[in-house]
Amino acid sequence: MSETDRRTNVAGVIGWPVAHSLSPKLHRYWRREYGIEGAYVPLAVRPEDFSVVVHALPRGGFAGVNVTLPHKEAAFALAHEHDDPAAATRAANLLIFSDGRIQARNTDVYGFRTSLTEALGPDALRGAAAVVLGAGGAARAAVLALDQLGVASVQILNRSQERAASLVSELASRIKSSLQLVQQSDWKNVARHTAIVVNATRAGQSGEGSWTLPFDLLPAGCVVCDLVYNPLETEFLERARQRGLKTVDGLGMLMHQAVPSFAAFFGQMPAVTPALRSELEQALRA
Ligand code: NAP
Repeated sequence: MSETDRRTNVAGVIGWPVAHSLSPKLHRYWRREYGIEGAYVPLAVRPEDFSVVVHALPRGGFAGVNVTLPHKEAAFALAHEHDDPAAATRAANLLIFSDGRIQARNTDVYGFRTSLTEALGPDALRGAAAVVLGAGGAARAAVLALDQLGVASVQILNRSQERAASLVSELASRIKSSLQLVQQSDWKNVARHTAIVVNATRAGQSGEGSWTLPFDLLPAGCVVCDLVYNPLETEFLERARQRGLKTVDGLGMLMHQAVPSFAAFFGQMPAVTPALRSELEQALRA
């Protein structure tokens, strides 16, 4: 049987909670756009049930699933095979079921890299100094994407020093850029030489506090990115705009990380378009 004959066109997203996820809307939009029958369902699964549910899904006809918080590390751990970004981040946001095996992929690295390339051009960050706020899965993906875009250095600033130190020790040997840990008290010195600052924490997400790092010392050409996309206009980005800095929101990454998933589930490489962005912006406002 060929890959096309075997395709079930049934997929979903697993999280806890999952009701907030934009992925069902995103995949529905593309299925409508390309006239593809099938289903993409939200699966609210508690951490303790994650493994049992995932192992049952292939028997239920699922081609694969996207994985969101808090299951990305568990998804990596239960898979039989991993792509390079999943192995480097030890986190997977895409599981593909094939011939009784589970493949783990991390498309967040691709999503962030593509979002930055689209917003800034392909060579804008070559040789640049970057700061990544955070030390979780999203921060790891951001570090790898920035490295692929040729930055010279990445400084990691996180609330928990211990977690930041683990990220640095695990990723430093995997990337070409230099990777260092910095403290919030170093910000004044770090800020003046920074070309891009990325918030890869939950700070600024609905219900969470925001970073209060002052932006006045950042150079005029500095780019400020937020991976948080709900709300889309975070306080972090709003302060950067007020200071006249270029900003990149988290919706670009969200749309681009979904492209390889859709292709794997439904056999069609979809396009990220202004019309898709506008539909998702509307959903976020609703
Ligand atoms: P995670 O693994 O749970 O890591 C959470 C990170 O946020 C840690 O560094 C944590 O610091 C920090 N943090 C949490 N609350 C904070 C606060 N109030 N102030 C400062 N730092 C705080 O989560 P993740 O998977 O890395 O995701 C992080 C964010 O990125 C989430 O908002 C997620 O939705 C977003 N994201 C967006 C996309 C996209 O496509 N746009 C993709 C992936 C993730 P400690 O270590 O000190 O606890």
